[in-house]
Amino acid sequence: MFDKVALIGIGLIGSSLAHVMRREKLANKICISTRRKETLDRAEKLGLGDTYELNPEIAVEGADCVIICTPVGVCGAVAEKIKSHLASETIVTDVGSVKRSVIDQVSPHLPTNVHFIPGHPIAGTEYSGPDAGFASLFENRWCILTPEANASPEPVQKLKAFWERCGSQVEIMDPDHHDLVLAITSHLPHLIAYNIVGTASELEGDTRSEVIKFSASGFRDFTRLASSDPTMWRDVFLHNKDAVLEMLGRFSEDLSGLQRAIRRGDGEALFELFAKTRDIRRSIIEQGQDVEEPNFGRDSS
Ligand code: NAP
Repeated sequence: MFDKVALIGIGLIGSSLAHVMRREKLANKICISTRRKETLDRAEKLGLGDTYELNPEIAVEGADCVIICTPVGVCGAVAEKIKSHLASETIVTDVGSVKRSVIDQVSPHLPTNVHFIPGHPIAGTEYSGPDAGFASLFENRWCILTPEANASPEPVQKLKAFWERCGSQVEIMDPDHHDLVLAITSHLPHLIAYNIVGTASELEGDTRSEVIKFSASGFRDFTRLASSDPTMWRDVFLHNKDAVLEMLGRFSEDLSGLQRAIRRGDGEALFELFAKTRDIRRSIIEQGQDVEEPNFGRDSS
């Protein structure tokens, strides 16, 4: 689909793209660039690309597609570095978990003769770095693209086709709407997980060791989310502040309602909510976004 793809950042998402591009033969040449030499050397050892460059300016030269796969907080700095090295008509995209901030950071730097089409694959794991990637990460997952209303249709269609070849279904969305939806589906769950695991880690000695021992009763499911990359998630909360605060406000009100129901012994209110939330889980399974096996598909408990 592309002659040369430059991947800037080669963590979980960048390396998964490298694997799937190779498998599906989506690029004649993959050039990898990242900040640290250790990471670049590791990517080379894993054979993720064809060429390796510490300098993103050199990496993007001659590329017809550039994919920024760094934490969202540095997308603007990356755009500033590469701006004068981009060929005319290049597709520049990203994979960041927040869209409005990335657009505000990147757009001012890019020349008008390139096509900037922000993107976000709704796929991931709690692991990071170039070793974490695998070719099937994007299979049966959504990828959201948030192009400007006046974006040229052909490059948007081309990027859509690219993600489809990576195994994803693609939805075009307004960036602010994306940020609000992801605040509740992804960002708030991670914040709650970081908070509950943080609370547990502050408990006194004996109780704390029992938290680990008896974690299979629920706690361990939060620890998976709470072990996600700290840099990536720090940037998500700093860059999707308004939408997260909006959803956190609603969450806090609902939590107060639950607190009241428990204090008053209002079993009916509790039962009603717990029955409703079960239905949401059923819908997720029906739409193929999780498997039905107990313990979220783990083979031992
Ligand atoms: P990751 O595994 O932590 O990798 C991040 C990569 O970015 C590393 O290669 C790191 O390089 C590089 N990097 C950091 N700062 C850089 C800079 N200033 N210039 C160039 N490279 C830099 O992260 P990830 O999970 O792949 O996430 C990447 C992006 O995808 C994030 O924006 C995240 O929001 C988004 N995303 C993540 C997930 C997920 O579940 N993880 C899902 C969907 C979207 P060094 O090692 O050289 O420092």
